[in-house]
This record gives sequence, C-alpha cells and structure tokens, in this order.
Amino acid sequence: MNPTRRACLRASAALAAASSIPWLGGCADLGPGDLPGSIAYRPKGVRGAALRDGVARTEIGSTVVTSVRDGFATMPLDENFVPGVPLAQVRQALDDAGLGSASVTIPFTAFVVERRKRRMLLDAGNGSFGAPGSGRLLANLREVGIEPASIQDVLITHFHGDHINGLRGADGKLAFPNATIHVPAPEWDWWMDDARMRAAPAAMRGAFEATRRVFAPIAADVKRFAPGAEALPGIATIPAFGHTPGHTGFGFEDGGHRFAYLGDLTNVTALFLRHPDWAVRFDMDPETARRSRRRLLDEAVAGNWVVAGFHWPGSAMGRVARIGDGYEFAPLVS
Ligand SMILES: [Zn+2]
Repeated sequence: MNPTRRACLRASAALAAASSIPWLGGCADLGPGDLPGSIAYRPKGVRGAALRDGVARTEIGSTVVTSVRDGFATMPLDENFVPGVPLAQVRQALDDAGLGSASVTIPFTAFVVERRKRRMLLDAGNGSFGAPGSGRLLANLREVGIEPASIQDVLITHFHGDHINGLRGADGKLAFPNATIHVPAPEWDWWMDDARMRAAPAAMRGAFEATRRVFAPIAADVKRFAPGAEALPGIATIPAFGHTPGHTGFGFEDGGHRFAYLGDLTNVTALFLRHPDWAVRFDMDPETARRSRRRLLDEAVAGNWVVAGFHWPGSAMGRVARIGDGYEFAPLVS
C-alpha cells in the first residue's frame, strides 16, 4: 500500500467511529490515476465563497458543492404553521433570531455536487409552479456557468412540489434533459399509488398530481434507490423519514470531511433547528420526523459534518452546534 493511501485510510478510520451512515468516498478517490502527482496525502480543508447573490461555492476536500438558491416564499404566520405550539412562542423564536414575526419567509436552495468527474444536482426547486419569489434555479445555474444540460444526475430527497416541480417546465420539457433522475423507492411507492391518491383528502390532490405531471412520462427511466444504499458511486443515501414517508438525504466523505444534505429534515432553522421537537405543518408524520431530526443532528454535531438543508438561510450549508435543548446553524457563507 502506498503511503498516500495508508494516510488517507487512517484519516477515514478516525472519522468512521460510531456512525450509522455508510459513508462512501474517502480513499476510493485516491485510486491509481487520480493522484495529482503528489505522494504526500494532504487533506484539503473546507472553504466556501459567494459567487454572486444566492450562489456560493464550497470545496470539501476535492469535491465542489455549489449552493444555488431557487428563491423564497413568504407566507402569513398563523397558528397552523407549527401545529400544537402557541403562536406567541413561534413569534418569539422568530424575534429571537432577528427575523420579523408577522410572516415567515422560507428560502429554497438546491445544491450542485461535482465529484469524481460527475456533476449532480440535489433537488430541483419549484420551477414555474411555486411562490412568486421562487423558480430562480435555472437562471442562477446559468449565471455561474452551469448549463442545465451538463447535469448528469438529479437526486431527489422527496416528492413535495418545491423539490420536484423544477424537473419539468410548464411546456412539458425536461429541465435537465441529459440527467438520470434518482429517487427514494419508498417515496415513489407511496406517491405513485393511484388508490392512495383517490383516497387522499382534497387538500393533498395537488401534491399527488404534481408527482404525475413530473414523473409519469419518464416512469421507466427513473432510478429508485433503497434509502441507506449507495445511489451513485461515492454518494451515500441517508434515511430521514417523517417529513414524508421516504424522505432521504445524501452524503459523502472526502479528505477527512463529511457532507450531508438533509433536505427537509428541518424547515426554517430559527424555528425547527432551534426547537427540533416542533414540527412544521408540512411534516406528514411529525413523531417520526422529530426522531429523525434528533438522531441526525446529534450525529452531525458529534461528527462535525458540513450539513446542508433546502430551507436553510445563507448558503444553506455549514455547521450545526448544540444550544440549549436544540441546535444552532452557522452557514459557511452568510
Ligand atoms: Zn421543502
């Protein structure tokens, strides 16, 4: 074994202790032919920088993750947003975070991962089907030189409209025409069940119809992975059920650092990261969602992961720390 590989394996083994996630990557990146001529293994750090408003690029070892904002939605804040929690407490939490409390603003941010010569997109945004301030993903990608046709894979955390509608335009055309689309198998099975759709309350009809608009014409081509298994070489999948039946995150390890994109594990951080036992009204199984939040956020803190969330502020990726009975998020780029 060459000294480079041995040093890498040592760094990875130090990280691997007591983790429930089958981390992938690390030293596999250092196979023959991948080394840039150096025999000394030097882990690269984690560095982020803003490219323009709403787009930031972060290096994690030799992987590049670009945060690309799809926009925002602002909605009036009422007692329905956090069921079971007095509205005054919800307003106080927003005030404590320096946010206005008359309404709540939800950011949307997707991520491009460039790793092992592949360019992948994590979640696809609202497309032209969301709130007026959303649907900026394609324009923002192009602004930083990422052509949608160059995306090779799109990985989807779950089937809510803000995550899948961007896959297909209002004209019916696929937004990422050369990409293979990967989805959690239990998410597919739940939403694409016609009997369940027929039995669903009227308020959920739109969500079921969105999944068919997006996926029905390409059903045979969509790759369905088992949560916990490898979705693509070097991309781990992280079961995070509760928000939806098959909600799943994505992660990798590179240069001694771990990255985990946790989708909608929490909605806005000032409320649901700070108060992980609160459940946003979009959590379909609040009790399971709470357990997933605690489990994964505890692990993120213990492992010093770089963590990302679709509805998080700033570049929507950074570190999580414990505070009181909850957690606090510090974006790498604010
Ligand atoms: Zn969402």
